[in-house]
Amino acid sequence: MIPSYYVCTGCAKRFDFEHREAVYYFGTAPIDNQLTSTDVLPAPGRPGWCKTCAKLCFVEDIKPLRVFEEAYGAVRAGQTVEYPAETTNLDASQARGQIATYLRWRMMRVHPARSLCCGGTNYQFLDVEQPLLKHSECDFGVIEAQYVFPGSYNGPGPGVYSAANIHILDIEGLLIGLLTTRSRRSAIWNVAPAAYEPLRSD
Ligand SMILES: [Zn+2]
Ligand SMILES: [Zn+2]
Repeated sequence: MIPSYYVCTGCAKRFDFEHREAVYYFGTAPIDNQLTSTDVLPAPGRPGWCKTCAKLCFVEDIKPLRVFEEAYGAVRAGQTVEYPAETTNLDASQARGQIATYLRWRMMRVHPARSLCCGGTNYQFLDVEQPLLKHSECDFGVIEAQYVFPGSYNGPGPGVYSAANIHILDIEGLLIGLLTTRSRRSAIWNVAPAAYEPLRSD
C-alpha cells in the first residue's frame, strides 16, 4: 500500500506524492482520446525515492513470475488475492480474467520496474527496513511514512470534479497517456497524450 505522504522526524517537513496511481493498457490498438475503465488495469506500486528527480515517487511493483502463477492458481481455486490486484470485489470469472491478463503481461515484461516521475530506475524503495531515508537538510531527521484513512467517504471517485491525470503505462512501463476526466457514474475516461522526457542517464 502506498502511504498517504511522508514526514521528516526532525523538522516535520511534509513530502507528498505527485502521482499515487497508474494503470496499464494492454490493448494492441493505439490508444484513442477515450478509454473505458475495463480497457486498463491498475498498476501495483511501491513507494520510492527517485534520486534523479529528488522526489517521492510511485514505483511499479513487479514481483517474480512465480507470484503471478500462484495468484492465478489461487483465483482458479476460488480464492481471493491482493496482488497483482485486489480481487475481493470481483466475481470468480472476472477475477480469473484479470489475473490471467496480469500473468500474460508478466511473461512479456522485460524492463525493470520504473518510477512514475520520469520512467527511470534510479530510485530506492521506501517500504523496507533499511536504509532509512535521511532528510538531506536535517542533522537527525529521517523521512517516515504516514497513513491517513479517509473513513467512509463515498464521493464520485477520481476524475469527476477535477482532472485525475492517472498515468497510462504500456507493457514496458512507458508513459503513453493520462486518464484525465470522466463524467459522474461513467466508465469512459477522456485521455490526454503524454510521454516521459527522453530518459536521463540512470
Ligand atoms: Zn527534516
Ligand atoms: Zn524520477
